[in-house]
Amino acid sequence: MITVSNNEANRVAKLLNLKRSEFDEKYMEKGMHDLMLINAIPCHFLSNNKCSIYQDRFEGCREFPALHLPYFQKRLFTHFMHYNRCPIIFNVIEQLKTQLLFEK
Ligand code: SF4
Repeated sequence: MITVSNNEANRVAKLLNLKRSEFDEKYMEKGMHDLMLINAIPCHFLSNNKCSIYQDRFEGCREFPALHLPYFQKRLFTHFMHYNRCPIIFNVIEQLKTQLLFEK
């Protein structure tokens, strides 16, 4: 799930010429701890296999798959969820399997 900050929601609502309330109603849902999340998978802004708001995409999108951030092991569920969709994650996992002498 993509989390969206208040500033990001304001920015993208403006980009789409929507009132913030319209943007929230159409694209957002509340997650745990009142986090705002994109309410659809795949994301509304995915069009022809490309991000239609690429220059204004959310921080979570910019960081994905976040392999450069600490606590890789705490995001294993996400990594394995995207293993067969994301070539970056696939290649990193396959390299780790080789380096860690993983056997089938
Ligand atoms: S990069 Fe764009 S299409 Fe992909 S999840 Fe983020 S906003 Fe949606």
